[in-house]
Amino acid sequence: MKNFKMLVLLISILGVLAACAGSGDLSSAASDGTYVPGTYSAASDGIGTVTVNVTVDSERITDITLDLSGETESLGQAARDSLVDQIMTAQSAEIDGVSGASATTDAVKVALVKALEQAKRVKTSKKIDVADGTYTAAAPGFSWTGEVTCDVTFKDNVITDIAVTEEHETYTGEWFYTVLDKYIPRILETQSLSVDSVTGATFSSNAVKACVADAIEMAGGVSSDWYTDIEKSSAVKEIKGYDVIVVGLGGSGILSYCSAAAEGASVFGIEAAGKLGGNSACTYGPMVLNSVYLKDLYNGGKDYINEDDVYNTWIEYVDGDARPEVIKKAVYESGSALDFFVDKFDFAFEGVGGMLGSFVKREWNKFWCVYTADNNNTSWNVLGPNKTYQFDRAMGIAKGLNDKNDFMVELTADELITDADGNVIGVSCSYYDGTTYNIYGESVIIATGGFLGSDDMMEEYLGSTVNTLGVTVNDGAGIRMAQAVGGAVMNMDVLPMIHISQVKHMIKNDDLTADQKAVLTALALTTDQLSVTTEGKIWGGEDLSGTEDEGLNVEICFAPGYQYYVLYTEDDIEAIASAGLRESFAKATSMFMGQGGTFEVGVPVADIYDILSVGEEYGNVIKADSISELAYAIGCDEKVLEKSLGGKDTVYYAVITAGYSYGTVGGLDINENMNVLRADGTVIKNLFAVGQDSEGVTNASGKAYTPWGGQAQSWTFVSGKIAGEQAARVAANTK
Ligand SMILES: Cc1cc2nc3c(=O)[nH]c(=O)nc-3n(C[C@H](O)[C@H](O)[C@H](O)COP(=O)(O)OP(=O)(O)OC[C@H]3O[C@@H](n4cnc5c(N)ncnc54)[C@H](O)[C@@H]3O)c2cc1C
Repeated sequence: MKNFKMLVLLISILGVLAACAGSGDLSSAASDGTYVPGTYSAASDGIGTVTVNVTVDSERITDITLDLSGETESLGQAARDSLVDQIMTAQSAEIDGVSGASATTDAVKVALVKALEQAKRVKTSKKIDVADGTYTAAAPGFSWTGEVTCDVTFKDNVITDIAVTEEHETYTGEWFYTVLDKYIPRILETQSLSVDSVTGATFSSNAVKACVADAIEMAGGVSSDWYTDIEKSSAVKEIKGYDVIVVGLGGSGILSYCSAAAEGASVFGIEAAGKLGGNSACTYGPMVLNSVYLKDLYNGGKDYINEDDVYNTWIEYVDGDARPEVIKKAVYESGSALDFFVDKFDFAFEGVGGMLGSFVKREWNKFWCVYTADNNNTSWNVLGPNKTYQFDRAMGIAKGLNDKNDFMVELTADELITDADGNVIGVSCSYYDGTTYNIYGESVIIATGGFLGSDDMMEEYLGSTVNTLGVTVNDGAGIRMAQAVGGAVMNMDVLPMIHISQVKHMIKNDDLTADQKAVLTALALTTDQLSVTTEGKIWGGEDLSGTEDEGLNVEICFAPGYQYYVLYTEDDIEAIASAGLRESFAKATSMFMGQGGTFEVGVPVADIYDILSVGEEYGNVIKADSISELAYAIGCDEKVLEKSLGGKDTVYYAVITAGYSYGTVGGLDINENMNVLRADGTVIKNLFAVGQDSEGVTNASGKAYTPWGGQAQSWTFVSGKIAGEQAARVAANTK
C-alpha cells in the first residue's frame, strides 16, 4: 500500500516539477519573485502524515514549520531542526536531508515542493482539473488495528462525496463520529483541504484529509491546489450574566455543571473538543464506596467495603504528602456523590462484569463499578463501554434546569478574564471558526483534565514526555490559566497514569502483518529477557513485591522516560528463527493495544529478521554492532551499559518498550471545597478546580498514581459535586 502511495506521489511530483521547470528549476523558483506572499501548507506521507507550513514573502521563504508528530521521535522528529535549517539556507527543497530519517526527509521535500508550488501560483480559483469518478484511498488514523479507507467522488471538479468504507477508529472509542459529523461536511462545504482537524480527533481527521489528497492525485489533480484559504472569523462575542462557568466538559466538568445547575445556578459550559466526555468517555468506571445504588444492585442493600480501611490505607500511601481533609472527601463522599448523579442525572453503572475488585487489595472485592454501555449495555470499544450518551443525557437534563443554561463544543478556553483588582470575572475563548468568545460569570470551575498533551509541562514537571493513550487536548490549559491569576500547584510530579505498554511506535498500516506485529509486541513486552533503561541500567521492572503497588502494571511509570530497551543478541534471534519464541513470550501481549495477530510458542519465526528491519524503520528496534554503538543509540553512558551487559561486546537488537499514558495527576492546589489556593494558602474565592486538574492533592510527589483502581474517575464525581455546589453558592452570595 505504502509503495503504491509513494508511486502516486512521485508521479504527481514529477508533474509539479515539470510545471516548475516550465518556470525554471526549484532552486531558481525563489529568485523570480513569483511567490504570492503568505503561508502555505501541504502534506505528504512519511511514517505518518507530514505537514509543511511555509511562509514566504514575494522573494524568499521567511519561515517554515514542520508537523512531524506522526514521525519516529528518535529519527524523524529529531531531524526537524536540521531540515528547517537546510531549507532556510537552500530556500528550496533541494536539500541533503538527514540520514537515518530518509522517509521523513522525502516526505518533507515532497510537501515543501507542493507548498511552494501553491505560493508560486497567483491565487486563482482555477485548480488543475480532476476527472469525474470515485477513487478509493486509505491512510493511518488513531487506531492501531487498521487504516481509514474512503471513497472520494468528484463531479465537475467538485468533491461531491467522501464515504468512509472502512475504519478502525471506533475500535478505540467514539471520537470518529465527530469526523463524520463535522470534518467531512466542512471539506464538502469549503472544497478545501485547509479545514482544521476536529479537536480531539486530529489523527482521524488527518487520515481523511490524506485520503482526499490521494484521491485528488489519482483523479489527475494536484492536491496542493486544494489547500485554499478558509476565511477565519475575527469577530468578538460577549456572553454575560452567568453564575457559573465550567471550563472543560469531560467527566469532572459535566458533573460540576450538573451539580451547579441542581443548585439552581445558571451555568455555561466550554468544551474544546468536538464532543463531550473527554477521557472520562474512555473509562471503565469509578471507584465507589458504599453507594446506596450499588449496595442495592450488587450487595443486597448492605455495605460492601470498610471505608475507614480505605481511608487509612490511602493516608499511609501518601505518607503525609497530600491533603488528608480532601482525601476524606474522596473516600467518604464517593458513594453519596455517585448516588446524587444517578438519582438526578440518570447516570447508570450496570456495566458487564458488575462491580470490580481492587487491582491490589484483593479483600476489596467490590471496589469500582462499570458504566452501563450504550445500546442497552451492548456497545463497547476496546477501552471500555461506549458511554458518551450518558454524558450527553446528563447535560440535557442540566440544561433543562435553567433556561439560560448552555454550553458550546469546539470552544477552547485560552485565559481567565480579571477585573482591575485581579478578580476572576470570566473566560476568554477561541471558537473553531476563529471567533473570540468572552464569557462572564460569578464563578469559574477549571476541569481541563491535566497536562498530558503539553510536552513543555511534561518536561518541566515530570522530566520527559510519554506516549499517550489519553486525549492530548488536555494540555494543561486550565492549570496555566489558574496559575496566571495566582493559583498554586501541588504534587505536579505524581507519576503519570500508565497501565499499558507496547512498542514505541505503533505500526498502523500493513508493512507488517497482524501476526508479525504480535511477534514484535512480544519481543517488547516479555519480562524474561535482559532489559536496560535509557540510562543503560538493568531494568527488571521496579521491584514492587510486598509494596502496595505489587501486581499492578505500573512499573513502567518508574522507568526514566517511561520506556526501556529489551535486548537480543544475534544468538537470541537465531534461536527464535530456528526454534520459535519461548513459553514466557506467550504472556507478552498488550492489554487494550493488541493488534489482532497471534503466534505459536516453539514454532520457528522464519521472518524474524524482516520483522526486526521493519521495526527498525519505524524506530521500534535499534540494531547495534557493539556496546558503544548501542550506548550511542540509546544516549547512555557506555560504561554503565557495559556493566549491565557484563561486558559482552556483540551485535544487539534493542526493542523499545514504551508506556502509554492515560493522563497526569498533579495539578492545582485546592481545599476541601475545591477552591483553588494561592501559594500562601489563601483562597481564590470564586475559582475551583476538579478532576485531573486537582488530583495531585490526594496523591504523593514522585509516586505512582494511587493504584487501587478507579480513583481518578471517582474523583470526577466527588470533586465535580462539591465544586458545582460551592461555585453556585459563591455566585448566589455575590449577587
Ligand atoms: C483510555 C483511558 C481509560 C481510563 N480508564 C479509567 C478507569 O477505568 N477508571 C478511572 O478511574 N480512570 C480511568 N482513566 C483516567 C481518566 O482520565 C480519569 O478517570 C478522568 O476521566 C479524568 O476526568 P477529567 O474530567 O479530569 O478529564 P477529562 O474527562 O479528560 O475532561 C477534560 C475535558 O477538558 C477539555 N479541555 C481541555 N482543555 C480545554 C480547553 N483549553 N478549553 C476547553 N476545554 C478543554 C477536554 O477536551 C476534555 O473534554 C482512563 C483514562 C483513559 C485515557
